[in-house]
This record gives sequence, C-alpha cells and structure tokens, in this order.
Amino acid sequence: MSCAIVNARILPAWDGTFATGAILVEDGRIAGIARGADTDAMAARARETFDAKGATVLPGLVNAHHHAYANVLRGTENALPLELWALFTVAFGRGLDERLLRLGILLGAAEMARAGVTCVVDHSPPVRHFRASHAAHLESGLRVAFAPFLHDRHDHDILGFALPDAIRAEIEGAGFPDPAFICDMFDELGRTDGGGRVRTILGPNAPQRCSPALLDLWAQLAARHGMGAHTHLLETEAQAIACWREWPEGVVAHLDARGLLDACTAVAHGIWLAPAERDLLARRGTTVVHNPASNLMLGSGILPLADLEARGVPLALGSDSANTGGTADMFELMRLATMIGRSGTDWRSWPRAETALRMATEGGARAAGLSGRTGRIETGYMADLVVLDLSGAAVSALETNVEALVRHGGAHQVRATMVGGDWIYREGRIRSFDEAAVLAEFTQVRAAFLDERAHALGSARKAMEILAQQLQTTRLQEMIGPKRD
Ligand SMILES: [Zn+2]
Repeated sequence: MSCAIVNARILPAWDGTFATGAILVEDGRIAGIARGADTDAMAARARETFDAKGATVLPGLVNAHHHAYANVLRGTENALPLELWALFTVAFGRGLDERLLRLGILLGAAEMARAGVTCVVDHSPPVRHFRASHAAHLESGLRVAFAPFLHDRHDHDILGFALPDAIRAEIEGAGFPDPAFICDMFDELGRTDGGGRVRTILGPNAPQRCSPALLDLWAQLAARHGMGAHTHLLETEAQAIACWREWPEGVVAHLDARGLLDACTAVAHGIWLAPAERDLLARRGTTVVHNPASNLMLGSGILPLADLEARGVPLALGSDSANTGGTADMFELMRLATMIGRSGTDWRSWPRAETALRMATEGGARAAGLSGRTGRIETGYMADLVVLDLSGAAVSALETNVEALVRHGGAHQVRATMVGGDWIYREGRIRSFDEAAVLAEFTQVRAAFLDERAHALGSARKAMEILAQQLQTTRLQEMIGPKRD
C-alpha cells in the first residue's frame, strides 16, 4: 500500500515551523517528505493520493498511560482520592469478562482514533484475560504497548490500614495470579509482536505493590524477553509514606539498585518524587508520564513539570483511566500540562506548548518503547499520522503554529488518523472495526453488569467508610519530617 498525503502543512521538526508539502507513505513507513515541485513526483509514485489542502499533519499522538478496561466504567465514582476510588474500580474491574474487556478496549480505541491518538500504553490489571485484551488490541488498529500488571500486595496492607476480616476477604477476592502464571503469560506474549502493532512490555502495578520476590521476577522477565516496563510511581502522598517506610533509601534508589531503571522504563505520575529522585531518573533516562487530568480528579497533587523538565527527565503524557481523567483527548491534556503548574510571576520556567506537544508525540513514543520509530514525521519512521483541520471558527489563528495548535486544537478537528500506513479513522468513520456494533453491544450488556456488581460495590462502600478515617490521618510530613532530599 502506498499513499501520498499532499498539500499539507507538516510539522516535521521541533523548531515550531510548519512546511507545506507532501508525505509519501509506503509499506507502513514514511518513505519521503517533499516540498515544492517534488510533491508532484511523489504523488505520481503513490497508489493513493490524500489531498490535505488546508489541513495540518502531525505525528500521531501517543497516550502514554491508560487503563483500557476502565472505558466501560464511565459514570462511576470519580470524586474520591485514589486510595478510596480504587476500591470501586477494583470492585467493577474484577467482574469484567472477556466480552466487556473487548468492548472497553474498542470503545477507548474509537475515542482515541477520533482524537488523533495512534499509539497507547495499556497498563492492564485483568491479566487472567490477557489473551482477550491482546486480541482486542489487534482488532483496534491502534499501535499498543500492552503492559499486563504484576502485583501481589494489597494497598490496605501496604498502608497498614485495618479492615474487618469479612470485608477484607470480599475486597481481596480471589487474590493475585501466581508467578508461574505470570511467567507463562509473558513467555506467550513475548513470542508475538502483534503484526508489529501490539507489543508487550512489563506492567508492574507499582513498586510497593510488588513483594521482593515479584520485583526479582520483574528483573528476570525484563532480561529474558528484553521487555521494557511501565509502572505507577509515587502517585499520592499515602504511597510516598508507604514507600519511605519500606525503603528508607527511597523507592527510586531501591529500584535503581535492583537494575530496574533505564531508558526502557516509564513511570506514571511521579508527583511525590524528591528532587534527588528526579535527578536519578534523568540520569537513567527513565520517562515520567504526566497525567494531569487524573491527578486533578483524584486530588493527588501537582507534578512539578517545569522542575522535571529543567532536570532533563524524559517526559510523556497520559490520560490514565476513563474513570479518573475523563476523556482521552491529548489536546486537553497538553493544555492542562502546560497550565496547572503555573503560579506566581516566574513565567520563564512555565512549560511551553512545544514541551507539551513533544510529550504527546516523541516523549510518548519513548515511554511505549518506540523511540526512533514513531512520534515524528521523518523518513524511515512508521507512518503514524494525524490530519487536523484548523480552519474552523474555534481554531482559525493569526498564525498556524504550535501555540495555536496546543491552545485551540482538539479531538473535534481531527479529519483522519493513520497507523502504520492504514487509515484507521477517516471521513467520520472508524475503519478498523465496526464502531456502531461495539456501541450497540455495550448498550445491551451494561445494565446486567451493573446488577451483577451490586454486591461487590456494597463491600467497597463499607470498606471506604472504614478506610476514609485512616487515610485522613496519614500525612507525609508527620511521618518523615519536612526534609527528604
Ligand atoms: Zn494509572
């Protein structure tokens, strides 16, 4: 398959200037970029011509932290801090069967393809159904870094929260998969690259949610399969307390001592990283994935993005769960990322639109283990592209530049989305799967799912009442004092 996208404003480099020209796509890759008279020759060489007159072509956006299962949980609890919110998402998540998982993945894929997202990191808790998740990702047409969870410790144990036995048993459910299952799963997934689109990486839930034996297994699997890793890290104050209690040298130093931090590792959130820990991540080339909407919704804190950028920490951007961050619109996230850390008059350090766009493209590619392969419009890169119409009233700008794009762009301006040379969204229609059938099926099954989960949600509510009081008395400053760097 070959396609020439002609008459497009292209953003090929990071100097912020757009060039008008053509992009030749052959065999899933960008085979050439041309300007001026050369564009005619390029169009003649391609089997298909896409006229992008008046449109802007960007590298496909990368959602670098997402939990696809939660796309069937829109409309559930979203006004609680993480430790209490988690009771509800786990109560729902544990009831997902393979059919609902597929629907969640495809609902999210449709939302993201329509919003110009070409690649997503799916940090996936329902590991017992890993084959169904993997198959749905293949069906979606998106490029995916599939990161099944590793974890074997509950938050209430880690945080030292007391629960009556009956409630504890109910919210713990069947327990965690054993190490043999985890090994077999990654052995199986490691044997496929999903047609070049769905690659597996390790998905440790969070360091404190893994026993020492499981942290060992993380290192073993990474070495055996050459897989990168994606994990939550220091998302909330309570987690920071738990980590400092467990590892007085700091969780980041502990992971580093185990050899778990490198350029193939990405950590989500990182709000409560101490300054020295940020420096260590920068030295190891480990990406921090910023999730501004989720952090705001859960009240987890504000990531000091400008400080991380100044220290040279690689950065990416994620939407997190549909039931924490809301939409998976990377434009909304780019805007939030540049604005929420601003305060006072020290404007020189405020994150710029260009920083946010880099995070949402090549920064995300690095987090997904695809550095140098996607995230830029460059010859040899995979043809993951998004075509935006910036001519409407809401986006028509004095100058078409990155500032206008980030401040005023949005999912509703996306005209077409291409992954690996295939149009997965074009002319208002998802082309990789039957979106209407997915929506109809979800409408059919959701009421029964809610009914089936009623008892588990009752247990979550009881646990919440007990844990809420204990959570409110947990404060980092009281535990370890004001200085921790
Ligand atoms: Zn998350």
